[in-house]
Amino acid sequence: SLPVVAIVGRANVGKSTLFNRLVGRRVSIVEDTPGVTRDRIYGKSEWNGVPFRVIDTGGIEMDEEDEMGNLIRVQAQIAIDEADVILFVVDGRQGVTQADEHVAQVLRRSQKPVVLGVNKLDNVEQYAFSYEFYSLGFDEAVPFSAEHGRGTGDLLDAVVAKL
Ligand code: GDP
Ligand code: MG
Repeated sequence: SLPVVAIVGRANVGKSTLFNRLVGRRVSIVEDTPGVTRDRIYGKSEWNGVPFRVIDTGGIEMDEEDEMGNLIRVQAQIAIDEADVILFVVDGRQGVTQADEHVAQVLRRSQKPVVLGVNKLDNVEQYAFSYEFYSLGFDEAVPFSAEHGRGTGDLLDAVVAKL
């Protein structure tokens, strides 16, 4: 079966926009309102002749509490369980948020390969906004624009290198 790439990140960072670009169809619902609950969406993609499955985990953006009252990042956990590579998306225009740091912490503990993509950097003049995301502790912080497509080739190069 094909390797699985799970797109993870807090609400409204552009996960579904990226998913639709990778899958080549408008399957996932792009929402201007954060926190809208949707089902998980699966699709197929390929890059440089390497096929893979993609999961948009945006349908499970809410937190849940375990019996000890600890918040569990459900989305990140499902991605960790199912993915061969996790594509962690953040909003480069907003800068690092506490929610990004929480997701990063869960992903770092997972031992799964993570590619960090810094989205909404629609032109190269904005690429410097990606540097502060190195503080999240991953190998690289790849600037890209899910909406315009710029940088998505570099992002996929990084993903496929970890498959
Ligand atoms: P999700 O909640 O993470 O799935 O985010 P969505 O894909 O639904 O996108 C949330 C909002 O960000 C929508 O208004 C998108 O049009 C916008 N957005 C997504 N990608 C980009 C991008 O690369 N550049 C800009 N400027 N806006 C984007
Ligand atoms: Mg979404």
